Amino acid sequence: MINLFQPQVGDAELAAVAEVFERRWLGHGPRTTAFEDEFAEHLGVPPDRVLFLNSGTASLFVGLDLLDLGPGDEVVLPSVAFIAAANAVVSAGARPVFCDVDPRTLNPTLADVERAVTPATKAVVVLHYGGYPGDVVAIAEFCAERGIDLLEDAACSPASRVDGRAAGSFGDLAIWSFDAAKVMVTGDGGMLYVRDADRAERARRLVYHGLRHASGLGRARTAGQWWKLDVEEVGRRVIGNDLTAAIGSVQLRKLPAMVARRREIVELYDRELADVAGLALPPPLPAGHESSYYFYWVQMDPAIRDDVASDLFAEGVYTTFRYEPLHRVPLYGAVDAELPGTEWLAGRTLCLPLHPGLSDEDVRVVADRLRKAVESRPGRADR
Ligand SMILES: *Cc1c(COP(=O)(O)O)cnc(C)c1O
Repeated sequence: MINLFQPQVGDAELAAVAEVFERRWLGHGPRTTAFEDEFAEHLGVPPDRVLFLNSGTASLFVGLDLLDLGPGDEVVLPSVAFIAAANAVVSAGARPVFCDVDPRTLNPTLADVERAVTPATKAVVVLHYGGYPGDVVAIAEFCAERGIDLLEDAACSPASRVDGRAAGSFGDLAIWSFDAAKVMVTGDGGMLYVRDADRAERARRLVYHGLRHASGLGRARTAGQWWKLDVEEVGRRVIGNDLTAAIGSVQLRKLPAMVARRREIVELYDRELADVAGLALPPPLPAGHESSYYFYWVQMDPAIRDDVASDLFAEGVYTTFRYEPLHRVPLYGAVDAELPGTEWLAGRTLCLPLHPGLSDEDVRVVADRLRKAVESRPGRADR
């Protein structure tokens, strides 16, 4: 089976984990802090604003908790987003309001966001679809003018930039995911960026029981009665640890090479599939935009999409559609939404295998089988 995603881990990650074993400090410690500092430098933001957590989902939940939302507050997010984003909005006490996206890039445009914003909007969540930064600059400007907080879901975009500036550094909050299927992996893990220094300090408490100061060995060196709990606010327990952070540091060093290989694969798909009648390929990146190339998606007649996916699966090529629109998920289905771009793309889009472990031959096999599956059917895309 040619898989959709596959982590690139090897001897360097194993050696980094072995070092942590030797130190006998597996939990949140010096490796975690080092990884946070390295990631902050990679983003170009102050290190105290970056927190390594145990998942991207936890980062979303904590990020939204920081906004003190409540009943009557609305958070705008694209319907084409990961379920965790909507769940985090509800968990924070607010109502998710789904906006449309550009049907070809699957990213929300400024106009899509503007249409969904009301006086009750307290925050906007944008996702950089497949690692493509989208209209983040214009949306960030719009939100800043209105005093609306912007959270960037950069889960799949650790290497994405606009005019040299890192995706995730445009808004008030951002998250990344390092789960086993992502562009860089730690097994499970996520990063949270909090632009405001006071909010970032509060985030450090919220991710570890609400504790203002640790109550363990570190604290014993500086205070008496180090076992006291100075908790004033309910917190979660979602911190990262030195084992996964050690893997993350190695992955961050490998990131440029991994993304370069992803880009080669995308360019090969572009060449191999350019002349397939009835297939639309991802639009070219706008000038100044850099992608992490997490998804490669094709679009075709909705009458054939599902059969094409089944044909490919039967022939050993695993494809999928991301993300099934949230306004169609049972939990959120009651939300009435008129989202024509989303409806258009949801029936037509298919994501192809994309990871640095694919050989050129693998990519040609996928392209060849896709061509046959599409061309053997009568349907034709309306591009
Ligand atoms: C994977 C993902 C998440 C969640 O990250 P986890 O680390 O798996 O919890 C959130 N948003 C997007 C867009 C994702 O792809």
